[in-house]
Amino acid sequence: MIVMKFGGTSLLDAGRVRAAASLIEHEHARGPVAVVVSAHGGVTDVLLGLARSARAGDTSALAPLEERHRSLARGLGLGTEVVDGLLAELRRRVEGIASLGVLEAQILDLVASYGERLSASVVAACLRSRGLSASAVASWDLGLVTDSRFGEAGVLQESYGAMARELPRVSGVPVVTGFVARDARGQVTTLGRGGSDYTASILGAAAGAREVQIWTDVPGVMTADPRYVSRARSIETLSFAEASELAYYGAKVIHPSTLLPAVERDIPVRVLCTLQPAHPGTLILPRSDVRHGVVKSIAHRRGLFLISVVSTRMLQAVGFLARVFQVFAEHGVVIDLVSTSEVSVSVTTDDGRGLPESVAALRAFSTVEVADARGIVTVVGEGLRETAGVAGRVFGALAEEGVNVEAISQGATRVALSVVVRELDVERAVGALHRRFFEGQES
Ligand code: ADP
Ligand code: ASP
Ligand code: MG
Repeated sequence: MIVMKFGGTSLLDAGRVRAAASLIEHEHARGPVAVVVSAHGGVTDVLLGLARSARAGDTSALAPLEERHRSLARGLGLGTEVVDGLLAELRRRVEGIASLGVLEAQILDLVASYGERLSASVVAACLRSRGLSASAVASWDLGLVTDSRFGEAGVLQESYGAMARELPRVSGVPVVTGFVARDARGQVTTLGRGGSDYTASILGAAAGAREVQIWTDVPGVMTADPRYVSRARSIETLSFAEASELAYYGAKVIHPSTLLPAVERDIPVRVLCTLQPAHPGTLILPRSDVRHGVVKSIAHRRGLFLISVVSTRMLQAVGFLARVFQVFAEHGVVIDLVSTSEVSVSVTTDDGRGLPESVAALRAFSTVEVADARGIVTVVGEGLRETAGVAGRVFGALAEEGVNVEAISQGATRVALSVVVRELDVERAVGALHRRFFEGQES
């Protein structure tokens, strides 16, 4: 079996849904397929905004969203009944929020889930209208179960066995909702923004798929985000480790958890472009070619805090670090990057909640500085493991560009080298590194 996941941009309008349907037909003619869908492009943002504004009594975004789905159905030559039932349910939920004036985390996830449920219904109906047997399936009906961390739920191990049992019972091509799941009590949860990629790899692992295909709007994973670097180019192959680091450090093209289920079962993940279906895209494999010093891609993240903690009492390094991390853990601060010396540690986080309390607790035994509006720029490549020279080339390129590096970190896998810079400098830093490593301006 092949799992084909279509992202929001690949399902933006009737034309793109039709293009996705023909790709599914083509693959189905060659062997069994399961499809995973995101909400139609932009719908999740609208739903989350709608839920929040409904709490203040404003439900005005509902009507245009309903009309968008109905006109999409009509544009595909389908009756609006493929969306009417779900839209009516959504309207009741949103009006419920407006009349009660409260919005709990689980209601936010519930409202968000209509995006994927609507698109699964539309895509399955579109396939049927073309003569292919297909069923829209909510992932929870296949047995996908998570914990109850609404907005960022963790998948429970039992999901894999349940999905392996349920998938063959679906009639025709299963068109499965990405991103959404349920907890053990049956409450709807979501897997974090961009989480449909993760659903696809979970399904692929459960079904023992031959390949998981992530169909998106760019021709594979590229040497940098093409929205920032016009000269970015596609990468033929990446290792699981390289792709995981890229995703973790901000390459939005794949959700950071996507590679985990694939790694466990050695399932290749291919990133492909719906707008250029003949392009080979990127193949992500357990291993890839390792060439000394070769940087494969540059990722970046923004909106981070940099917290620098310096021990005032010169605790032994091990005791100091343990105490610092204990404080962050106690206040629920999730750390992205760590850079240490014997008596100091710098960390980044993208979530400011819990920071004031953490800083107060840390000040009991250290000096603390917090800087906001920071970003991370990361170069990734298996070749970094073996080459010391890459760091020098990174710092050289950034220094020439006048970008100040505030912290440095090389992850445990040594496949990634990250620098923390001011958010204002992120774009220039990515550009300078891309020129240095990919545009023939090697020194
Ligand atoms: P989808 O709707 O298909 O899930 P996303 O918007 O989540 O699409 O991911 C695709 C986007 O990821 C691209 O349009 C691109 O701007 C962004 N992106 C960031 N880094 C990279 C990268 N290294 N290679 C390719 N795309 C990237
Ligand atoms: N629709 C969800 C989002 O916008 C999930 C996804 O696109 O993968 O985050
Ligand atoms: Mg995505």
